[in-house]
Amino acid sequence: MKMYLKLIPIILFSSCEKSINNYAIVIHGGAGTVIRENTSKEMQEKYEDKLREALQVGYSILEKGGNSVDAVENTIKILEDSELFNAGKGSVLTNEETVEMDASIMTGHDQNAGAVATLKTIKNPISAARAVMEKSNHVFLSGDGAENFAKEVGLETVNNKHFITESQLNQIRKIKENKYGTVGCVALDKSGNITAGTSTGGMMNKKWNRIGDVPVIGAGTYANNKTCGISATGWGEYFIRNVVAYDISAMMEYQNKSMEEAAKISIFDKVGKMGATGGVIGIDKNGSVMMEFNSPGMYRGYKTENSEYVIKMFKD
Ligand code: ASP
Repeated sequence: MKMYLKLIPIILFSSCEKSINNYAIVIHGGAGTVIRENTSKEMQEKYEDKLREALQVGYSILEKGGNSVDAVENTIKILEDSELFNAGKGSVLTNEETVEMDASIMTGHDQNAGAVATLKTIKNPISAARAVMEKSNHVFLSGDGAENFAKEVGLETVNNKHFITESQLNQIRKIKENKYGTVGCVALDKSGNITAGTSTGGMMNKKWNRIGDVPVIGAGTYANNKTCGISATGWGEYFIRNVVAYDISAMMEYQNKSMEEAAKISIFDKVGKMGATGGVIGIDKNGSVMMEFNSPGMYRGYKTENSEYVIKMFKD
């Protein structure tokens, strides 16, 4: 009986596109209190338009035969530049009312990866993560060092105020609560390479240079052409403790689970059981798309070779 009850939400809220696709892209704009009753038609349209715009950018790169790294970076840049999401401009504020951003990217054919944490002036943190992957001997840079590296490779910098929006200032001053609005993207290109990337302002009201799961390879981001690419969003501490993104890949590799089965175990039976909420998106090596979450909603969308553009926000 217990098992049966636990399965109900899983079946009702599953979201997966199982056909075989040579190329595909899936994105998220964070999971959290995305509830239809609290969202005006106008806001819903704004979110949907931005998610569609981001998907279109990535999909057109893949369609023309471009690689999945370009698709993921350019898709995430659209979401970072939008005030709507907790990444780049529009990031949640720290306790000191500043912005500190984390991002990571990983390629599935060679398990190369790049990550940055606590960036304050780099306009597009996902590009800094990519630069760490491609232009340094390291995987993970943080703070001033990461900023200096990004400047050295010529990335655009802006004043920290660029990222701070009126709406986030009001939020932090009103309620010092958590918000999940991280962005992420996974793409499979025509050569069969999967790339996953994630970018965030972290958790609202964070202190002490807190770093979440997003730049932690294996927690918030993971890619392996043998299995899948995953990008996560949610309460980062729990995603680190459950090594969510790698856990899904490992269940597929060592237990022959499907990506969807593995994601459900990770999100519902592990993260969920510990009392945390969030979600994951993924593409497996066959081009199937997965979007699973245990929160009230998750901004999300995908487009595959064989599907229309699909954009969703709420549970249903
Ligand atoms: N996972 C992010 C973090 O903990 C937050 C989010 O997904 O919005 O930093």
